[in-house]
Amino acid sequence: MNEQKLKTALKHLPLGDLRYYEQVGSTNDIALQWSAQKDFRDYSLVIANEQINGRGRDGRKWQTPPDSALAFSLILRPNNVEKKNLILFTALGALALVTALKKQYAREAEIKWPNDVLLDGKKVAGILVEANWLGNQPQAVVLGMGVNITSNAVPPAVETRFPATSLEDALGVPVRRLDVLSELLTALFEWRPHLGRAEMVSAWDRHLAYKGLPVEIHARSGQVIRGVLEGINPDGSLRLDTAPSIHFGDVHLRPSRV
Ligand code: ATP
Repeated sequence: MNEQKLKTALKHLPLGDLRYYEQVGSTNDIALQWSAQKDFRDYSLVIANEQINGRGRDGRKWQTPPDSALAFSLILRPNNVEKKNLILFTALGALALVTALKKQYAREAEIKWPNDVLLDGKKVAGILVEANWLGNQPQAVVLGMGVNITSNAVPPAVETRFPATSLEDALGVPVRRLDVLSELLTALFEWRPHLGRAEMVSAWDRHLAYKGLPVEIHARSGQVIRGVLEGINPDGSLRLDTAPSIHFGDVHLRPSRV
């Protein structure tokens, strides 16, 4: 991967500017700094071959060894409708990958609410959405994604809180990073106008992992909520049969051991 190859692979897309790095701390950090400047262009892309300080939610680490994964952050300028519900950008990233995998490999991936994509029940990608704020208004949304492409990207089992896999491990075929990136970004452009609309929420709902199954929601406080996962509400919160809606926050969804 290099800047020229990226530009060639993505030339059909109306991206903003593109910055490629061999190694970064975190693509989200660079994108947050970049998007703090007023004149950033919508759909500008920060992409790296390796992250040495990749971040998940709540300061957890996201591992991106060199040559083995996609690690990128897309800078988006939210419109007034989009500004109202930033969790929908997490779903946008997840749905874009699900759509790309279906189109390229005829595989149905699942979305583990709120921010992970699963194949074979294992985490193949994680999403971290952050924003630059002016008062209570988000000026820029940074949609960060890490997608494991080869088995080298998969952390050792002792280092993960949830089983992980890569596209090549799950699909059983060689996978080219740039092909996945191109298809994923194409799908993202297609989904964005539908953000928050019924068709987007229902696509999200259709791909929800553990739907109809008993699950546990673990909060940082130690509280555990158990119930059957019924689906996604229009605002992106989660519906269980036993509890009021579960809102996006530092909560972790797990299947119940039955
Ligand atoms: P959980 O998966 O426990 O519900 P989460 O979805 O919030 O939490 P994130 O914070 O988004 O997880 O991601 C960080 C976690 O993902 C790390 O704590 C680690 O367990 C795991 N992880 C780190 N790097 C990778 C990777 N390349 N592939 C899969 N999992 C990873």
